[in-house]
Amino acid sequence: MTALALPWDLPRRKALEQAALALPEGVHDPREALAHVAAAGLLRECVPAAYGGVDERVQLRALCTVRAALAYRDPLYDLMFALQGLGSYPVTFAGSKSQREALLPAIVRGEAIGAFALTEPEAGSDVSAIRTTARRTGDGYVLDGEKTFISNAGVATSYLLFARTGEHPRRGLSAFLVPATAPGLTVWPQKLLTGEHPIGTLRLQGVVLPEEARVGAEGEGMAIALRTLELFRPSVGAAAVGMARRALHEARSHVRSRVQFGKPICEFQATQLALAEMATLVESAALLVERAAFLIDGGARATLESSMAKLHATETAQQVIDRALQLHGGSGLLAGSVVERLYREVRALRIYEGTSEIQKLIIARELLRSEEEQRCSSPT
Ligand SMILES: Cc1cc2nc3c(=O)[nH]c(=O)nc-3n(C[C@H](O)[C@H](O)[C@H](O)COP(=O)(O)OP(=O)(O)OC[C@H]3O[C@@H](n4cnc5c(N)ncnc54)[C@H](O)[C@@H]3O)c2cc1C
Repeated sequence: MTALALPWDLPRRKALEQAALALPEGVHDPREALAHVAAAGLLRECVPAAYGGVDERVQLRALCTVRAALAYRDPLYDLMFALQGLGSYPVTFAGSKSQREALLPAIVRGEAIGAFALTEPEAGSDVSAIRTTARRTGDGYVLDGEKTFISNAGVATSYLLFARTGEHPRRGLSAFLVPATAPGLTVWPQKLLTGEHPIGTLRLQGVVLPEEARVGAEGEGMAIALRTLELFRPSVGAAAVGMARRALHEARSHVRSRVQFGKPICEFQATQLALAEMATLVESAALLVERAAFLIDGGARATLESSMAKLHATETAQQVIDRALQLHGGSGLLAGSVVERLYREVRALRIYEGTSEIQKLIIARELLRSEEEQRCSSPT
């Protein structure tokens, strides 16, 4: 275990939070939401400085700061921001110069819209079960298969998609940048409990791609997917923290104004205890996220800390939002209320980018590594 994170560039953090919190409320269209995030300059945090970003390397603390603030404002903003990052980060670290030049500045402007297509009907937690194939032809590939639960399906302009170029479960995967307009690619929308999450199934039937569409070397797909997910995992925790903070804020306002038995319900000690526990849970989750991001930005191996951050923050947010809804009584269940929306939106965070059970398996694996192995990869 490593020391707790130090505060990170407070003026920058404040500026990012202010920009996120100034976005308009009540935007329901994904493209419109993305346009607002782009206009606020926040997408600059998704790419390196050479392509219109802020830092030489993408900073996880910046991604986490933005995600927490956007999720507080409106989970749709956070989703669109996260997908710009997920859909472009593989190109940032594994793509060719021409891929980076074509994609990254357009991601910052919000003109290119990203998506990350890994999951398949038979390959969820077990990525090595991917069946979509990318068959070599003379000067490129032909892709066939199906992807499911792909966020931004039908909205994205390109899909960072993983397909099988070899038999080996892990070393047989490669990454591709598939244009949304590619002939043979069809999208089927899926409808979730969380109504505003654009998501769907992709069907690939004889999709022809040139060799230049491959991102990284053949066989590097699994490594590219894992590296991307490792960077973004703590940021899912940050989004959960943002949603939980908003629920707490709503609960505080409600209990001050709602009168029962002749006084505001915040005067009942049971209400006060609930608020105190919720606030403590949220801030403990925020610190775990902060520590993981701090370590990763410093170049350390932080597999254990990242999984703990994602696990604890998403599970905690679910509890806090549930309690916030309870403090609202019946009005918390009214469709369209902020806590009702958060109650629905937060559920997916315990599932995507590695379920809570998978995070626990990773944490256990790290705990059971021999001391020798731990010493060799120790960040300090
Ligand atoms: C809202 C939403 C958005 C998503 N967006 C994307 C996206 O943009 N791109 C993308 O590629 N995917 C996306 N996904 C897919 C997501 O990553 C998968 O749903 C997730 O990885 C789990 O896979 P699965 O649904 O097939 O569940 P399964 O893997 O079938 O798991 C079912 C249950 O079994 C448990 N389980 C599985 N294996 C083990 C094990 N070894 N030990 C113990 N328990 C286990 C799981 O924890 C879970 O509780 C999204 C999903 C959702 C819900």
